[in-house]
Amino acid sequence: LARIEPRSIQRLDESVVNRIAAGEIIHRPANALKELIENSLDAGAKMIKITLKEGGIKMLQIQDNGSGVRPNDLPLLCERFATSKLRDFSDLSKMTTFGFRGEALASISYVTASMNVISKTRDEPCAYKAYYTSGVLVPPKPGQSSAPQRCAGTDGTVITAEDLFYNVPQRRRALKSSSEEYNRALDVAAKYAVHFGSRGVGFVCRKASSNAADLSTPSSPTTTTIDTIRLLHGTSVARELVKLKPFEDKRLGFQVEGYISGANWSSKRTTMLCFINHRLVDCPVLKKSLEAMYASLLPKGGHPWIYISLDIEPERVDVNVHPTKKEVHFLDEDEIVERICQVAQESLAGANSSRTFQFAQ
Ligand code: ADP
Ligand code: MG
Repeated sequence: LARIEPRSIQRLDESVVNRIAAGEIIHRPANALKELIENSLDAGAKMIKITLKEGGIKMLQIQDNGSGVRPNDLPLLCERFATSKLRDFSDLSKMTTFGFRGEALASISYVTASMNVISKTRDEPCAYKAYYTSGVLVPPKPGQSSAPQRCAGTDGTVITAEDLFYNVPQRRRALKSSSEEYNRALDVAAKYAVHFGSRGVGFVCRKASSNAADLSTPSSPTTTTIDTIRLLHGTSVARELVKLKPFEDKRLGFQVEGYISGANWSSKRTTMLCFINHRLVDCPVLKKSLEAMYASLLPKGGHPWIYISLDIEPERVDVNVHPTKKEVHFLDEDEIVERICQVAQESLAGANSSRTFQFAQ
């Protein structure tokens, strides 16, 4: 065996550290979009318009009519760990907004060739436009000032990010085709549109190359969840959905609501929209358990359509396990999942008695 001489330990350059960290948070356009949507929702937006070029790889733009960013805050906007939402560590256990540690915009600015923000608050007479690279303000063109410049604009924020992963070739190579990336981003937008449609938030998503939107939902206080599902997923599934019996468990500290397909509907793959405290998450344990319940109900190979909105007391949720916050853990997870499956089963059994069905024991 060759003898290995010890090599000296050196600190990585800060820009390398930041780029590595950013790559952990932003894997693909759809992740970046999720973060941006959550920011817009945190800012109280009622309309969120998304435009993507080459599936978001070439350009990802999101426009909202939320609170906007004050001009004085623009210099810190893309700095890592700079946030308006978290002040001290104890806040982490009671977070009610989506973001909590100021990493999303910073990450996007580290892995895109250019990023700019136009934002206007209600109190300002005009909007301000700022350009960012690697967390800091940069001039729009060499030799110009990097200070945010006044410009025309409506209340709210427009964020444009171009050339995702231009400086992280491995990540760039790992991306799928533009159309696949577009579909993933569209899927994220469509899920948020269902959950927030009944909360008065409308969404539009389109390709930059087309004027026709692929997704368009209204911003209206009277829109119901079923309205949005019908619009985005079609009548055939919308009319077969069963509303979950409203359920609250004080001891386990959670409430659940949602819509799930009945015995007359099935598909080759499960569709699952799962929101915990209004955040879109993967909840594989819940998905598996519900699928197991449906196995005895649906024809072989048939899968359900599920939309679950779970509210869990914030101090029982640990959103900090995963940098993308896509996976979430909570106390008494198994027991809560079991209760939700019971609620689902009872709701299905109690649904329209003209199409009664039995659960195999
Ligand atoms: P976080 O959401 O964790 O605070 P981000 O990097 O996502 O971190 O955003 C940093 C800050 O920028 C937010 O705390 C918020 O103050 C501001 N911000 C981001 N997006 C918007 C937006 N669309 N409208 C208003 N403010 C925003
Ligand atoms: Mg955020």
